[in-house]
Amino acid sequence: MYSYTVRYEEVEAVREQRGKCPTCGKWVVRKHSVINTVNPFNKNADGYPKTHREVREAVEAKANEWVPNFEHWTCEEARGPLSQEQAFLVVQSLGKNPKSAAIQMALVDAKASS
Ligand SMILES: [Zn+2]
Repeated sequence: MYSYTVRYEEVEAVREQRGKCPTCGKWVVRKHSVINTVNPFNKNADGYPKTHREVREAVEAKANEWVPNFEHWTCEEARGPLSQEQAFLVVQSLGKNPKSAAIQMALVDAKASS
């Protein structure tokens, strides 16, 4: 019996964003990376293995969807559940994507406290 390891080429897209923590107002830098590999099982819509270029496009698109949560977890813990108005401010500070997990959490917190 033989066993062997195949290492596939990794394609990585990195994003970095700077923003203010909605609770304490300090600057925060968030980094995010998406990694996929070029491998025979990573297929495109036509059922063929994705080319390097297709994998690159996929990781870049995925990385562009990222919406950072700039709130420090320590600040989040300290503030406790948000009021309706505070939740609205968090939503505004997070901007763009109303479906982000952080916004949904904020809204759930707001509902629980009202
Ligand atoms: Zn903070």
